Amino acid sequence: MTATGAPAGTEHLRRQNTGLVLRSLRSDGPATRTELARRTGLAKATVGTIVGTLEAGGAVAEDDSVPSGRGRPGRPVTLTGESIIGLGLEVNVDYVAAVALDLAGRVKVVETRPVTTVGTPPSARELIGLATDVRSALLASGHTVVGATVAVPGLVAHDNRTVSWAPNLGWDGRKLATELETAFGESCPTTVDNDANCAALAEASHGIAADVRHSLYLTGTIGIGAGIVQDGRLMRGGAGFAGEVGHMPIGDPTATCGCGRLGCWEASIGLRAMLHGVGMQEHATPLQTATAVAERAENDPEVRAALQVLGQHLGRGLATLAAILDPSAIVLGGYFVPLGEHVVPAAAAVLAERLPTAGIHLPEIRLSALGIHAAALGAAEDALAEVLTGALAV
Ligand SMILES: [Zn+2]
Repeated sequence: MTATGAPAGTEHLRRQNTGLVLRSLRSDGPATRTELARRTGLAKATVGTIVGTLEAGGAVAEDDSVPSGRGRPGRPVTLTGESIIGLGLEVNVDYVAAVALDLAGRVKVVETRPVTTVGTPPSARELIGLATDVRSALLASGHTVVGATVAVPGLVAHDNRTVSWAPNLGWDGRKLATELETAFGESCPTTVDNDANCAALAEASHGIAADVRHSLYLTGTIGIGAGIVQDGRLMRGGAGFAGEVGHMPIGDPTATCGCGRLGCWEASIGLRAMLHGVGMQEHATPLQTATAVAERAENDPEVRAALQVLGQHLGRGLATLAAILDPSAIVLGGYFVPLGEHVVPAAAAVLAERLPTAGIHLPEIRLSALGIHAAALGAAEDALAEVLTGALAV
C-alpha cells in the first residue's frame, strides 16, 4: 500500500492509463470520452475519472458548447495545457538556444543567443544565463515549467545528466544537469541528451518524420551523428551511445578522420570532407558554408561531381544503417539540407542498389525543415515526456 492507501500497483496503473489518454489526445487530436475509450482500450468509466483529474489540473478541457447526454455524440475533450511547459535548451560551439513547448505541443518561446567567448571553448555561463532568463519569464507569466532538457554536441552518459565527452565544447565529465538545477534554485528536473537524439525526436514529433513511427535522423556538421526513433521512442543503447555512426568504417578507406583512424564515415561525408572534395573554404556556420557550395555547384560541374561522390558514400552508410534499423524515413539535417538536390539523388540510388530489401520497402530520404532550433525543440519535447507518459502528475 502507498501512503494514500491505494495499492502500489493501482497507482502505477493509474499513471500508465493517464499517459495513454494524454498521448492519444496529443497524437490523434480531440476526442469524446467514448472515442478515447475506443482509442486507448480503457473502460469508459476509467477514461471519465482520468479526464476529470486532468481537467482539474488544467491539462485538458471539455467543450461545453456541445450538448451532451443520452443519444448525443458527447463533448470533445481537447488537450490544452497552455500553462504546462517543457523547456528545451541547446548549447553549441557558436550559439545557445531555448524553446518552450506547452503540453499540447505549441511553441511558446524561441530564443537564440550567440556565444560571445572568442577563441576559447564556450563556458556553461551563456547557457545558464539563457535558461534562467527564459524560465523566470515563464514563471512570472503564470506557467509551470515541469522540466528542462539540454541538447549537447557530444556523448552523454546513461544517467542523462553528465556530458561524458563533448570535444568541440572542451567538456569532459561535466555534471551539466546538476549545474542547471542549482542555477534554477528550485525544483526543475533537468536532463542532458545528445543533440542528434533531440533533433531526431523533434523530426518525429513536429517535423518531416511526424507521419512515421520509425525514423533515422542524420546530423550534418563536421562530425556525423544519428538519432534513432523506433516505434515513436528514442533508441539509446546500453551506455547511451546508440547512433554514434560517424566512425563506422564506410567511405574512402584512405581518408584521415579527426579521431586518428583511417576510413571513418565522417572522413568521407563530414562538412570538412565535403569542403576538401569541392576545394572550398569553411564559412562561419555549416549552413552558410553549404549554401555557398550549393551556389557554386550551379555553375561548376567539378563541384557537382564531388558532391555526387559524397552522395554515394552517404548512400552506402545509409544502406548499412537501413539494413539494421529498417526506418520508414531517413531525415538529413545540418549542412545536407542546402545541398539536398546535389547529394540526395546519388545517395538514394546507392540505397536502392545496396539495401537487399529495397525492392519491397525503400526508406524515403527526406530533408529536415526545422532549421537551427530542431535540437532545442526536441529537447523541449523530451522535457514534457514525464507528463505525457503519466509519470509526473499535472
Ligand atoms: Zn573517426
